[in-house]
Amino acid sequence: MKTRMNELVELLNQYADAYYHMDAPQVSDATYDKLYRELVTLETAHPEWVLANSPTHRVGGKILDGFEKYRHEYPLFSLQDAFSRQELEAFDQRVRKEFPKASYICELKIDGLSISLTYQAGTLVVGATRGDGNIGENITENLKRVSDIPLTLPVPVDITVRGECYMPKASFERVNTLRQEAGEAEFANPRNAAAGTLRQLDTGVVAKRGLASFLYQEASPTEANTQSAVLEKLDNLGFVTNHDYHLADSIDDVWSFIERMAERRDSLPYEIDGIVIKVNDLAVQEEMGFTVKAPRWAIAYKFPAEEKEAQILSVDWTVGRTGVVTPTANLTPVQLAGTTVSRATLHNVDYIAEKDIRIGDTVIVYKAGDIIPAVLSVVEKKRTTQEAMSIPELCPSCGSHLQHYEDEVALRCINPLCPSQLMNRLEHFASRDAMNIAGLGGSIVEKLFSADLVHDVADIYKLTPTAIQTLEGFKEKSAEKLYQAIQASKENSAERLLFGLGIRHVGSKASKILMEAFKDLESLAVADQEAIASLEGLGQVIAKSLTSYFASRGTKTLLAELKEAGVNLTYLGQVARDDAALSGLTVVLTGKLERMKRSEAKAKLESLGANVAGSVSKKTDLVVVGADAGSKLTKAQELGIEIKDEAWLENL
Ligand code: NAD
Repeated sequence: MKTRMNELVELLNQYADAYYHMDAPQVSDATYDKLYRELVTLETAHPEWVLANSPTHRVGGKILDGFEKYRHEYPLFSLQDAFSRQELEAFDQRVRKEFPKASYICELKIDGLSISLTYQAGTLVVGATRGDGNIGENITENLKRVSDIPLTLPVPVDITVRGECYMPKASFERVNTLRQEAGEAEFANPRNAAAGTLRQLDTGVVAKRGLASFLYQEASPTEANTQSAVLEKLDNLGFVTNHDYHLADSIDDVWSFIERMAERRDSLPYEIDGIVIKVNDLAVQEEMGFTVKAPRWAIAYKFPAEEKEAQILSVDWTVGRTGVVTPTANLTPVQLAGTTVSRATLHNVDYIAEKDIRIGDTVIVYKAGDIIPAVLSVVEKKRTTQEAMSIPELCPSCGSHLQHYEDEVALRCINPLCPSQLMNRLEHFASRDAMNIAGLGGSIVEKLFSADLVHDVADIYKLTPTAIQTLEGFKEKSAEKLYQAIQASKENSAERLLFGLGIRHVGSKASKILMEAFKDLESLAVADQEAIASLEGLGQVIAKSLTSYFASRGTKTLLAELKEAGVNLTYLGQVARDDAALSGLTVVLTGKLERMKRSEAKAKLESLGANVAGSVSKKTDLVVVGADAGSKLTKAQELGIEIKDEAWLENL
């Protein structure tokens, strides 16, 4: 037993190191949690054998090189966890023994990483990670690049607040696609992606990754009496708080909330890994106090593991628009977190080799965020096949020889005329963040390509309604509609075109920065590498990629053709960029909306072109006010900012 305890401590510490410090977990959270539980049970039975370096006695995380240490004035903690209703009931009994009338607040457990923000006289002075709870990393400059973290508060208070910085599912997908295309290792999940991003030494990278935050705790002394009042206060100070919390008087009520959220979980725009149940009354919290690593007044219910066994039936190799060849396993169907899964990504050839994944293997499949499930590992004892997986040498689309560069984990097709790459490039060109040509999705691109009507993006502008009508499924009206959408895209501001060209490393934000600086595509095409690299938020990698792209003869021909077709090559600025109703306006939401969730309202505003900010300032154009609005409303009135209500937003 003692040997097992030592083994578990060593194993868990090794996993925690990979998880906290390299942002690359070696096992799933469920596996980690199971081993952790085993250790807790053994340590409870044999407290005399507990090792000093046991993870049960320390808050995970240490300081990485490259960041200054920051000693927290108020320590940060972990949470006790529960995996069943019985465990929650036991927690409830512990609470009620001393405080029979206690009531709870249930909050979503956001799967990001803890942050601590300190403001002096209303100005953000320090932003730090949790670290070991007492000493964290000073990541102030990086946190300043998280757009919803207020740099100043509406009142000049001294306050330290805590919360979670996370990567929304949409940003996660985007970041991983870019990494995949760049031949870089993808992040395993949004939590690791957020942690990896905040530990970047380059603040420009942080700004580009689209992180967000939810604040939930006032660590410095507060005048609030309850946790719900703290949330309200944080909200009024301009922090983003999560409005999907629930006040519960009993564990039955807590459980119903857990069940409801478990169902909604997949549809949330960010990852949650459970529900945190806290005693709502802060005086009771204070009396209950802390264990060595967690508060006694709170518990985190963790959703059951999203992991299943499945068998690999075959593997498809597909070519993306940059030529990266990605293997996807076809599986025996399994139910995973509410959906039937029959495909899972194997990431790249290096991953297959490292895990020795073979066709016919039984594997553990898990959902890494909202993306296609991934294969975590092979169940070796169920292996029946002897043969290692054969790796294609030829491109599955065009048959040319694939390359496996030494510094890349992926295989690549380098044939610029490879049909799969061309089709993916066309689809990307027409996509929403690029030229936004409604109706020109993957299947239509494929039809146009097979009918020999389109080979590169310039060909799109040569299409006529009559030509489109020859495609299966099109009639006069639908052909005219697609034709008009194509014509309308000619007027787009040039950053959409630049992004649509799909140049390696050049995402939509970089495209915007570039076009703001160079004003038109032709000037950018002749700009020198240093001029590009010196722009804030960019660097040598993007600059090099752009200059070699524009140096190619093919690119020159393509640009000439686009110009000839009447496609706009000039930057039109933000307001004119599209004609969305709220384009370019900064809008703040405050108070409780009745019919819409805060996240829905935010999404709607953003879809209408608004920039949704957390606090009211002179830069705010509009404030949308719900019930019980507090200081944000007062401030907006003082500044004479236009006030709107929920009905106005609904009608837009
Ligand atoms: P935790 O993540 O289970 O819970 C504590 C954290 O929850 C807090 O620090 C806070 O950041 C966060 N949180 C999110 N929403 C919150 C809210 N509304 N209120 C309060 N806190 C909220 O604990 P931990 O100590 O950070 O990490 C332990 C967990 O990390 C393990 O249970 C495991 O799941 C995972 N882990 C995994 C590996 C691995 O190899 N896969 C290794 C180490 C740890």
